[in-house]
Amino acid sequence: MIPTDTPSISSGPTEQRQWERVRKSVEDGRSANLADYEQCVRNFSWDQARALLDGLPGGGLNIAHEALDRHVKAGRGDKLALRWIGRDDTLRDYSYAALAGEANRFANVLVRHGVGKGERVFSLLGRVPELYIAALGTLKNGSVFSPLFSAFGPEPIKARMTIGEAKVLVTTEAFYRRKIEPWRKELASLERVFLVDCSANLPPETIDLHAALAQASDVFETVWTGPEDMALLHFTSGTTGKPKGAVHVHEAVVAHNVTGRLALDFRPDDIFWCTADPGWVTGTSYGIVSPLTNGVTMVIDQAEFDAERWYRILRDQKVTVWYTAPTAIRMLMKAGRDLAKRFDLSKLRLMASVGEPLNPEAVVWGVEALGKPFHDNWWQTETGGIMISNYLAMDVKPGSMGRPLPGIVAGIVERGDGGEVREITRAMAMGELALRPGWPSMMRAYLNEEARYKKCFVDGWYLTGDLAMRDGDGYYWFVGRADDVIKSSGHLIGPFEVESTLMEHKAVAEAGVIGIPEPTAGEIVKAYVALNPGFAESEALRKELLGHARQRLGPAVAPKEIAFRQNLPKTRSGKIMRRLLKARELGLPEGDISTLESEER
Ligand code: ATP
Ligand code: MG
Repeated sequence: MIPTDTPSISSGPTEQRQWERVRKSVEDGRSANLADYEQCVRNFSWDQARALLDGLPGGGLNIAHEALDRHVKAGRGDKLALRWIGRDDTLRDYSYAALAGEANRFANVLVRHGVGKGERVFSLLGRVPELYIAALGTLKNGSVFSPLFSAFGPEPIKARMTIGEAKVLVTTEAFYRRKIEPWRKELASLERVFLVDCSANLPPETIDLHAALAQASDVFETVWTGPEDMALLHFTSGTTGKPKGAVHVHEAVVAHNVTGRLALDFRPDDIFWCTADPGWVTGTSYGIVSPLTNGVTMVIDQAEFDAERWYRILRDQKVTVWYTAPTAIRMLMKAGRDLAKRFDLSKLRLMASVGEPLNPEAVVWGVEALGKPFHDNWWQTETGGIMISNYLAMDVKPGSMGRPLPGIVAGIVERGDGGEVREITRAMAMGELALRPGWPSMMRAYLNEEARYKKCFVDGWYLTGDLAMRDGDGYYWFVGRADDVIKSSGHLIGPFEVESTLMEHKAVAEAGVIGIPEPTAGEIVKAYVALNPGFAESEALRKELLGHARQRLGPAVAPKEIAFRQNLPKTRSGKIMRRLLKARELGLPEGDISTLESEER
């Protein structure tokens, strides 16, 4: 952790930029679910948030009940819950009642195969309807759902399924043959494998899911689960090291539901598109649970990113609330403003982003190209739901993550000499971002890693591992992950600020910044840069970028070296892997690269 008396990272022109705002209209403020932030924070209680949901008799709570049965029981069964868009543009619609019926069938199939409460059901699927049906059916059955990203290779899959003691896997025949069959016998816990697309000759010891579903009843009494019963197992992105398995319980639904209302401003008529894959926590908390508990219609696209396709979906599906990630926004920026302007996106009323720092440039681009700012928000696999957010009704300060959700107490902390953790209240002081534990969607464990879990909690704080600052208005500013901060000649430099400054230059599409050891300064700043179409790497451009950064950041903070790259190494959830840039720079072992995306794109 970094002491507060170290020089702040912000100086000169960037500090000024931080205070620029995107002013929100009165109309946004008046009509938003969270219209008056201070008032909402004052009046908020988790008990009230819990009361928004049904619960089960005797104090029980079940995520799938709240996502589906509650709406069906209340007469909203005909409402469109899910519109699936296939890779070839085929559409498949599920009403709340239809989705509940499919989930019931899946739950009945689990029962028939002896899968009970607390037992682990994994999925290894692209974004196909069966994934959503399996997730909800598993939760109805009181079993634990763990979605894996379908592009994982055999090793990361085996590692995660072993940690999670998988009893069931739902996957495709092709994935099974390539990624599971070679090692299946080594995982004794794995009893049943369901395939969603069977050819005539089913591989041995697998089950045709559709045949099983067809024989199952679409009526199922949701299994009674308590708020503390385990519901979801999510692995972290592996940006900083070996992924951890975060355990979430049914009570998380209280936070999923209310944060969707407050941070994403869900209203009954919304059409919501979360572009994240359920293999990552965003794709489950906000790609399944939160929109359904809020009774909105969600759009799912099976295909991978394509700028034109995405604009088409936003327009044709009349998406009103859109939740995406900085990496996708940077790709849209790369595709150009002119493309965006060709589409009528007037139905969009809220655009939000999560997963990585959102460069101020991207927020401003949103306003210019799409007519709205992106609303950044911050959270982690561990926190289960959004913790800090820019709200529809509040001015957006480009580059800031926003303010804590009602019910969430955040702080900037430092560690004293005796190892104790204390809060720093001075505005714009840098320290570790910490949260007071106690909200419903907080992880309950890192599965089988108790020591690692316990280390996160000190003196009544949950330590996030991220460094941040809070300004006088209570907005939080991300500095970098504690592991990524660069110490150079007595300065602490957050990679995010340097990357954002480089992004201001028209040639730069993406930037990743690391510190490399140097005897005099301790570390020097090195930037890796990917260029926009129409720009080619050259010595002149390198000098221009170095000059631009020096002018904006000052010599102490600006990079000393710039290297051009076609692409930057990223996790499959789209996060720049600075640790990998560093390992490669220094010729060190690459560490766990199970979540590394292919670098061809
Ligand atoms: P691992 O913990 O395995 O290294 P990870 O931290 O990337 O991976 P996630 O839980 O998916 O795994 O990501 C949470 C982290 O992502 C946060 O701790 C933070 O570093 C980063 N992050 C998420 N949202 C934002 C945001 N809005 N601004 C800045 N950083 C963000
Ligand atoms: Mg993390």
